Amino acid sequence: MGIELDGCCELCSDGVESRDHLFNDCIFVVGLWSKILQTCRIPYRVLCWDDTLVWAASNLKGKSLLVCILKLAWTSLLCFVWEERNLSHFRGCFRAIDEVFEVIKRTVSVKLHDCSVNKADRVNSQLCLDWNIG
Ligand SMILES: [Zn+2]
Repeated sequence: MGIELDGCCELCSDGVESRDHLFNDCIFVVGLWSKILQTCRIPYRVLCWDDTLVWAASNLKGKSLLVCILKLAWTSLLCFVWEERNLSHFRGCFRAIDEVFEVIKRTVSVKLHDCSVNKADRVNSQLCLDWNIG
């Protein structure tokens, strides 16, 4: 298609673009994921891609509000990181981590707008405030 790729990460220019780098190790993704976890009041830990998948498989079970938010936020992160990479590569557009985080936050908020939440629960109540749900 005439597209030249030099293999360098479009988001940080400091790594070879691979699945592991683009969706897990890149400083841009680390910044986004840290903000998501921070907003869920979960400490960030450095994990390789395979360990992230193990973490997700064991922690993203059930239907609690926290799990719903984390599932939506993580899948949104993967989607928007790919979009961001393509915007950067094909259009030369760059957004800051905070801007993409706000898009993820808005996506989670819209998706969970009509879900029924027990707001008498202190954790749920705080999550609703932090993620603008309801
Ligand atoms: Zn990168």
